[in-house]
Amino acid sequence: MKFRELGKTGKSVSIIGLGLENVDFKPYEQVKETVDAGLEYGINIIDVFMPGTEVRGHIAKALGERRDQVMIQGHIGASNVNQQYDISRDMPTVKKFFEELLSLFGYIDFGMLFFIDSEDDYRNVFETEFAAYAEQLKKNGDIRHIGFSSHNPQMAIKAIETGLPEMMMFSVNPAFDMLPSDRYVFDYFGDEDRFGGEHFRGIDPIRAKLYKLCEQKEIGITVMKAFGAGKLLSPDHSPYATPLSVKQCIHYALTRPAVASVMAGSRTAAEVKEAVSYLEAGDEEKNYSQVISDARNDFRGSCVYCSHCQPCPAEIDIAAVIKYLDIARLDPANIAPSIRSHYHALSAKGGDCTSCGSCESRCPFGVEIIANMKEAEELIR
Ligand code: SF4
Ligand code: SF4
Repeated sequence: MKFRELGKTGKSVSIIGLGLENVDFKPYEQVKETVDAGLEYGINIIDVFMPGTEVRGHIAKALGERRDQVMIQGHIGASNVNQQYDISRDMPTVKKFFEELLSLFGYIDFGMLFFIDSEDDYRNVFETEFAAYAEQLKKNGDIRHIGFSSHNPQMAIKAIETGLPEMMMFSVNPAFDMLPSDRYVFDYFGDEDRFGGEHFRGIDPIRAKLYKLCEQKEIGITVMKAFGAGKLLSPDHSPYATPLSVKQCIHYALTRPAVASVMAGSRTAAEVKEAVSYLEAGDEEKNYSQVISDARNDFRGSCVYCSHCQPCPAEIDIAAVIKYLDIARLDPANIAPSIRSHYHALSAKGGDCTSCGSCESRCPFGVEIIANMKEAEELIR
């Protein structure tokens, strides 16, 4: 397993995490098999958003004495009133469900303000007792860090700008990234509907801004919906001519700025194994650039951090340099010290570019890499 730091929480999380949504309503034996496989492969972060008493109990029982070997994302506001999955902002209900989660797991590593997708969600969480409750939980040591989950980049930016959350769970995949931020990702989850190719034109600037803001403010991202609820893997539902593979989707998410872990939704040990096989995959197998560049010319000129341009004879990590440059461009007069130090920690930087041009012929997106290397050196040094 490989690990990454989850932003300013300082926690080292496995780059593949375990999303257990799909074991909801499954028998205990299946939950245990899936959890066991995750731990066996070195996964140390698990998402438990499901509000159902039974599935939470199954997961806690399956972990047993191994509770401290994993970090748990538990969601504040996920409720299950009358056996109906719901988002609650009613404090007695919110407390009841979260306290039940605490009693099962003892403490929660990442207490997530659940589902900040609309202005109402924002107001009902950040401008009420809800946020104060999360702060109190942290003070008590019941949760170790405050996070939030969202599918809406505009609301996510607003949430981060409150300064309260330390990390975020966000829906990340190439199709969503191309979706204009005023469209709602859940409108594309219907069984009969393809993603609708005409809506997807290059990375949406608000989403790009969100990633950069996360990197700048050290908000680590854990990823949900990396496979677009399975649609990206399906020839019938993918917006691309060729469906992506599990490994390509995971690689896409892991090559976004600030992303620390992809919570791969798994319902069996075999599915955990498939997700974890990403770690053994070669560059060609993980490379998503051709699939998305074939479909979308509008990516042209923008780096998607795919690393298809490597190798560089000067040993520059081109995607990393451009990633830091993109963040620096966001506010050139106030480049965060962390961005400068990440840039200076690179063994080869923009200034090492010899303008040989071999990378530019390999970039499927027509990025002017040499100019980017020069700009990075001038802006970030
Ligand atoms: S410059 Fe091109 S090939 Fe290199 S990481 Fe960026 S998009 Fe990919
Ligand atoms: S042009 Fe610069 S960045 Fe590109 S391969 Fe040559 S030395 Fe590396």
